[in-house]
Amino acid sequence: MIIDAHAHIWKREMLPDKILAAYLEPLLVLDGMIDMTLDREQDWPMSQVDVPLLIASMDEAGVDKTVVLPLDLSRTFEARASVEEHNQWVFDSCAAYEERVLPFIGVDPMRGARALKLIERFVRDYDAKGVKVYPAAGWRPGQSELRDFWKLAEELDLVVLSHAGASWGPLDESFNHPIYFREVLERHPSLRIVVAHLGGKWRSETYELAKEFDNLYTDCSALQGWLPSQPEVARSRLKEAASLMPDRLIFGTDWPLFDLSYSHANWVRYVMEENWANPDFKEKVFEGNVRRLLGI
Ligand SMILES: [Zn+2]
Repeated sequence: MIIDAHAHIWKREMLPDKILAAYLEPLLVLDGMIDMTLDREQDWPMSQVDVPLLIASMDEAGVDKTVVLPLDLSRTFEARASVEEHNQWVFDSCAAYEERVLPFIGVDPMRGARALKLIERFVRDYDAKGVKVYPAAGWRPGQSELRDFWKLAEELDLVVLSHAGASWGPLDESFNHPIYFREVLERHPSLRIVVAHLGGKWRSETYELAKEFDNLYTDCSALQGWLPSQPEVARSRLKEAASLMPDRLIFGTDWPLFDLSYSHANWVRYVMEENWANPDFKEKVFEGNVRRLLGI
């Protein structure tokens, strides 16, 4: 069985214009189109992605189940839909396909009481299993005003999945250091935290924390960004994570973000077939480790 622990869906009104423009710009420049007006968005097939599209892509790639992560970037950058509408749409869209998709809540912890209320509601109404957070929106996990957020996540037994490593555009990647989770891990020994993308360029911090805290996990999504131009980087990082966090490395795709340059199906095939670990080990990464993490 193949479980993808990291994918996204969104409607255009949920994406702040500034964020979309920042992600679109390099693609349009690559394409020889430097006219950055909003109507060019139609040229980006990923400015709107929903569950049926995700499931069609999962079928093609051979993925059985996917964790869907809403991105709340609208506290810092204006979007037309509210964070509540955004999460409601994600949970409603996933409800009809519960065998295939498992939605997390997506909320910026800096929203304070509003974030706590939203979490309580989606756990109560939908039995949500986790929450996705994005430090580059402008916060450090150890900030004192976020203590109630981590406390609630631990009390409700939620898995916290955090972006880590690079960010683009108006997002501030200096907040994305995995090491900033140290204080949260110290205070919350039973809170399971997933550092996404192995921690990216700061993955040594992920591995340092993993030595001390066995409730820290990591996903290998976005490594396909190195394919096909530098496949040795993807392979060596998979090997490194496998040796340092063998029971806490989980598979992820970050769909749809890399689909244009390296398809969903190709990434699954790469991890499945490439010689970076033995088949039993790969089974843990595709299924066993994430099942234990999510209790499914
Ligand atoms: Zn992602």
